[in-house]
Amino acid sequence: MKMMIGDKFVSASNNETIPVINPYDSSLIDTVPNASDDDVNSAVSCALQAQKSWKKVPVYQRVELAMKFLELVQKHKDELAETLTRESGKNITESRNEINNIFTAWPAFCEKAKHLYGNVIPNGMERGHDKNLVLTKREPIGIVACIIPFNFPCNLFNQKVAPAILSGNAAIIKPASDNPLTVCKLAALLREAGFPSGIVQVITGRGSTIGTYLCEHKNIHAISLTGSSEVGISVARSAAKTLKKTALELGGNDAFIVLEDADLKLAVREAVQARFYNAGQICCAPKRFLIHRSLYDRFIEETIKHVSALKSGNPLDEQTQVSTLISERAAAEVERQIRLTIEQGARLLLGGKRTGAFLEPAVLADVPVNADILHNMEVFGPVMPVTPFDTEEEAIALANDSVYGLGGSVFTRDLVSAARFTDELECGCVVINGSSYFRSFEMPFGGWKQSGLGTEGVFSTFEELTNIKCIALKGIVP
Ligand code: NAD
Repeated sequence: MKMMIGDKFVSASNNETIPVINPYDSSLIDTVPNASDDDVNSAVSCALQAQKSWKKVPVYQRVELAMKFLELVQKHKDELAETLTRESGKNITESRNEINNIFTAWPAFCEKAKHLYGNVIPNGMERGHDKNLVLTKREPIGIVACIIPFNFPCNLFNQKVAPAILSGNAAIIKPASDNPLTVCKLAALLREAGFPSGIVQVITGRGSTIGTYLCEHKNIHAISLTGSSEVGISVARSAAKTLKKTALELGGNDAFIVLEDADLKLAVREAVQARFYNAGQICCAPKRFLIHRSLYDRFIEETIKHVSALKSGNPLDEQTQVSTLISERAAAEVERQIRLTIEQGARLLLGGKRTGAFLEPAVLADVPVNADILHNMEVFGPVMPVTPFDTEEEAIALANDSVYGLGGSVFTRDLVSAARFTDELECGCVVINGSSYFRSFEMPFGGWKQSGLGTEGVFSTFEELTNIKCIALKGIVP
């Protein structure tokens, strides 16, 4: 598959390619260009040119193009879901859900785009401004680099590209190099729907090379990245050189806290569903399970029952619940993290065996409170580390003792305890009686601490990807 620069589908100028491998059977699905700096330069100059006219296109016309895009996605949705499964190892049901999310996200961003109103600051609000009126409006920021991770490429394509282009920017999309094909296909459908050339472009290649070059480019005006905290920090450094706006949605190690009075069955169901969806590769999945000692043994027993019942296999099989990780390399890293946690004193109760890119869902019990997995080590795979606690203070202290602050969840029937935890947990979202995997397109999703900068969603992305302009009408009020 080619990448999309200007009005053409092209190879890399150096003709280099990157293979796209099916992690389930290691077969070669396709190749994509390994873009060079020259390719990025070409994309940026096309975007600069195109955005000058695009920013003048009325919002209702941009929305009409988005509606055509949705018709095309409807026509191709089965093929898109299958591509996503083949290149990611994601089971087919989850891939279909992700493609279907396009029909929720795009209309919502379109509605918001049509209601991005400004404000009026009336005269007389401040001494010396009795006759002056100030109007505010939102204007596009210019060219936005949309950098997408492997785990939910379509959801994050929606979260970034829709608000970027609907508000009059040009988007240069950089998909993950392991699974770029679905994003390339979606971008091609945007072009087919009529979004002008230069407004949506795709550059494929390695993050460490082409991603860095893109983020340092002087004519990129904003970067919207979802990825690991390590990459987020490196992108922030690149962006600082020319003071670009950045929106960074990064890693997490969310605590899942079950208090003494919790509905245990509900907690187990939520824990297993959220931790093993997408083979555990979710930023806001619960990744540390802190269980009140009075419920600990029952929680473990019920969890083992549920996890043992998960069906693994070919991700194209309708029955499969857990399949491979994104790559053998990723699975080997999770295997290493399990070994480390055992060395640090945890007991492996279930799973953890690796075959290629597949890792058996694992449950680690009695994890010592000083183990890395309970603090700063994000495990991006199907692993549940469980530890008991005695007091609420202990649970809060452990939950907050992390460089991450994406989300957290608390199970309790007591409103006062719920309110206490929502106040005390240092993170972007606290879910009561549900796992932190809870996410809607509407909400402002984002992390505290090293989990990110800014928030993403219908609620806030337009503000991240536009500039505010004040228009001062001096002396206009009689
Ligand atoms: P990653 O950080 O390895 O890569 C993310 C994207 O950044 C890829 O497109 C990659 O090519 C690019 N990239 C890598 N180095 C770069 C650089 N130096 N400059 C510019 N771009 C660069 O992440 P991943 O492995 O694809 O995804 C998993 C990570 O993403 C996890 O840490 C997960 O928690 C996080 N994540 C966060 C959210 C969120 O909303 N907070 C959502 C999904 C995933």
